[in-house]
Amino acid sequence: MIERNPAFDNLAAGYLFPEIGKRRRAYAAAHPEAKIISLGIGNTTEPLTPHIATAMADYAKGLGTVAGYSGYGDDSAGEPALREKIASVLYDGIIKADEVFVSDGAKCDVGRIQQLFGANVSVAVQDPAYPVYVDGSVMVGAAGKTPATEAGYQDIVYMPCLPENNFFPDLSVVKPNSLIYFCSPNNPTGAVATKEQLQQLVDFAKKNGCIIIFDSAYSAFIRDENLPKTIFQIEGAKECALEINSFSKPAGFTGVRLGWSIVPKALKFADGTPVQALWSRLINTFFNGASNIAQAGGLAALDPEGVQEMRQLTDFYLENAALIKKALEGENFRVAGVEVYGQGNAPYLWVRFPGKKSWDMFDKILDECHVVTTPGAGFGPAGESFIRFSSFGHREAVEEACRRLANLKL
Ligand SMILES: *Cc1c(COP(=O)(O)O)cnc(C)c1O
Repeated sequence: MIERNPAFDNLAAGYLFPEIGKRRRAYAAAHPEAKIISLGIGNTTEPLTPHIATAMADYAKGLGTVAGYSGYGDDSAGEPALREKIASVLYDGIIKADEVFVSDGAKCDVGRIQQLFGANVSVAVQDPAYPVYVDGSVMVGAAGKTPATEAGYQDIVYMPCLPENNFFPDLSVVKPNSLIYFCSPNNPTGAVATKEQLQQLVDFAKKNGCIIIFDSAYSAFIRDENLPKTIFQIEGAKECALEINSFSKPAGFTGVRLGWSIVPKALKFADGTPVQALWSRLINTFFNGASNIAQAGGLAALDPEGVQEMRQLTDFYLENAALIKKALEGENFRVAGVEVYGQGNAPYLWVRFPGKKSWDMFDKILDECHVVTTPGAGFGPAGESFIRFSSFGHREAVEEACRRLANLKL
């Protein structure tokens, strides 16, 4: 018999979302009358928009004709027209088309990128963080050489991001030559780093030989014009950062699957090899390009009509977030000293229940309101006492959830 990869033994028990699903199902089984509403998982709910959906349908139809058929793309990095359009429409020319690598999604790229750095790299993550950074690091052996405790893995540097530091971490805890995962707008906190903060991050990375993996999956939700939508707006970022993004959240492509990574030419390993060279080698080995239908959708999404549609779609979710925020600022929450964080630039609200445990609040909200949320502790030790409310939902469901939350006994 073959031994299993020992790296997998080091994963902390259970991924967050299966545990939420388990508790939801157990509750539903015990209370069949409860009409449960989910403000939990960050999955999109609204239909694809017309210009984008039509482009994909037309493309798919074309595939059934001799003239419209295509097989593998010429390049695993994506259709040249889409790479051009991402560079020009979303990066305003700061990034060149040959620095854009189209993918089947941001999560998949996070997983693949970790292979470039192997098992010996030091890792630093924002705490709380999207679980893939930590679990993926454990799977490639870069972390988890000792089992996780309540405080996390000993060989990962957790950078607490709390209201007390305006959700921007103390970078002095990061070891030289680390991979730094940084997500802005942040999932789960909804915080967006300012230009000054990102400049600090970039300066730190350059000075200390670090590479930043910048996850900007929610950049399309930024409404404050002064906030940076990409790390490449920051001086020096091309020498120390790569960026991962996706059509999942702005265009509702969570099921369609399309994303991209920006790997700048100037980004190098210690020996001077361009990171891009290894990245090309890796995707040409493991990845045969994103679906051509999805890429047709991405091209349409970057047409003026598509950009307008994505704006409306993200506006819709931001309006949901504003409704939930209002409910969470109601009398019952205020009297209990509940703190609500959310500046209107992300589809999440991050809410602190002082003195309470996240999972206890999760159970209480499920029990009293029949609303599923996400316990902050599942995103890292600094998430304890917080709950994440997601604004991905149909409007009637969100409104009903808000009415129920007004009656939560705190
Ligand atoms: C949803 C999300 C993604 C997107 O992942 P896809 O694989 O593109 O669907 C990436 N990063 C974060 C932080 C997310 O919340």
